[in-house]
Amino acid sequence: MGIDIDGKTRLLGLMGDPVEHTLSPVIHNTLSEILGLNNVYVPFHVKKEGLAKAVEGAFQLNILGLNVTVPHKNDVIASLCSVSDEGLAIGAVNTLVRTENGYRGYNTDMLGLTREIKSYGIELVGRKVIILGAGGAAKAVAYMCMAEKASDIYILNRTLEKATEIAEHMNSFFGRQTIRAMKLSDWRELVKNRSDRDKSSENKAGGNKAGGNGTDEIVFSEKYIAIQSTSIGLKPDNDRAVIEDEDFYRMIDTGVDLIYSPFETKFMKLCRRNGAKAYNGLKMLLYQGIIAYELWNDISVSEEVADRVYEVLEKNARNNTVLTGFMGCGKSTVGKRLAKATGRDFLDVDKYIVDKAGCSISRIFAEHGEEYFRALETEALNEIYNTVTGTVISTGGGLPMRKVNRDILNRLGEVVYLDVSPDCVYERLKGDTTRPLLQSENPMERIEELLGFRRPVYLDGADRTVNVSYRTVEDIIKDIID
Ligand code: NAP
Repeated sequence: MGIDIDGKTRLLGLMGDPVEHTLSPVIHNTLSEILGLNNVYVPFHVKKEGLAKAVEGAFQLNILGLNVTVPHKNDVIASLCSVSDEGLAIGAVNTLVRTENGYRGYNTDMLGLTREIKSYGIELVGRKVIILGAGGAAKAVAYMCMAEKASDIYILNRTLEKATEIAEHMNSFFGRQTIRAMKLSDWRELVKNRSDRDKSSENKAGGNKAGGNGTDEIVFSEKYIAIQSTSIGLKPDNDRAVIEDEDFYRMIDTGVDLIYSPFETKFMKLCRRNGAKAYNGLKMLLYQGIIAYELWNDISVSEEVADRVYEVLEKNARNNTVLTGFMGCGKSTVGKRLAKATGRDFLDVDKYIVDKAGCSISRIFAEHGEEYFRALETEALNEIYNTVTGTVISTGGGLPMRKVNRDILNRLGEVVYLDVSPDCVYERLKGDTTRPLLQSENPMERIEELLGFRRPVYLDGADRTVNVSYRTVEDIIKDIID
């Protein structure tokens, strides 16, 4: 991305501690690029003791707007000239908008989540909602559920006092007793907590029990929406959900997890396995940023632009590098070393398929043919797409030939094509009998023919191309990282 800075460039930024891993610059600088606005967004590492001075300094430096993240979202309020209603009610702000007298604070986390759930067609009005967790994010979730007029809201937390505090505060702020605090471990009480509407429709349907397999299943006429707001399940804690019991997931029809790394959390998997729709929190992140950007620049960002920013954000959030290229270009060797050098995991799609199928690729080709294998590749990619983040992914040589696969790769991460010449492939693979596609009388001719056909497709599907012919692995990795 090229940023032109001149005398009229306006500065935007983020204050937090730490800030190194933030994705906010991706959102805001992409917006400025697409919309052609002369803004630059940078992160500022601000310590607790320097917060008030940093806000004052930002104002004197004519900084147009700021985001604020952990741990300053509450403390920064003391340095502002005014705070929006939702910021006051939640007791936290994440966006500072410049005014004549100082900065005004807003909570666009709440507004972003509202826009995310609306973008998925989820309506809260008149619905029963379960909020899991009572930390900083849950306050914004509770406010949203109240503002959107959910009929019954249950806030469940390991530490009951924190849930009670949010419930009492929000009930009093909105002047109605809609939120009830509960201990996380008491969630089974919600199974009993069916409304008269549920019961009457169950009676009409001839009772509320189904089953016969030993576990009676409650049939709900109106299920809950569950919003997962704890930190359980966040990478690398991928295999945990704050509630693991499947009975919980049978009570809900829609699950929203605020976490977006991994892309499909255990909570989401459990929702889907029990028939509920499930969404992660990346669009919340996107929209909180877009709403802040709209406030700073006094503009409205279209959904078409939001979609374009989301594509860039998704790639960055996933933090995957996808290596494509012809057989013998070194995808596995380079991939493993690149993963190590960048502190990420390594995944070989061919190995993923072999492990799942329980037999070698040559055998799959021999017994079922190429088309069958290509279908397995697409299936594997879809699974990887749902779960894999922070990984270097090596792909089979023919995988990008299918358009559907190229589309998935493009969203999965940055696609780097390892460009190798036919003679270099021949040198590396001569004598290798495990490659089904090279079992011909004249392998060199076959390589030239196949590569001649595939190379334009690889180039078309790649974000970057790195020449790998007759080069050392170190050299290639340096090129990729640079
Ligand atoms: P927080 O203030 O630290 O709150 C953490 C919550 O998780 C608390 O309710 C805590 O319960 C609960 N928790 C932690 N460990 C637990 C355990 N072992 N068992 C049961 N509950 C446990 O964090 P936060 O700022 O609210 O953030 C929560 C999550 O939302 C994070 O994963 C964050 O990444 C995500 N988030 C996403 C976005 C987005 O834009 N998508 C925005 C904000 C936050 P106790 O109160 O009992 O400790």
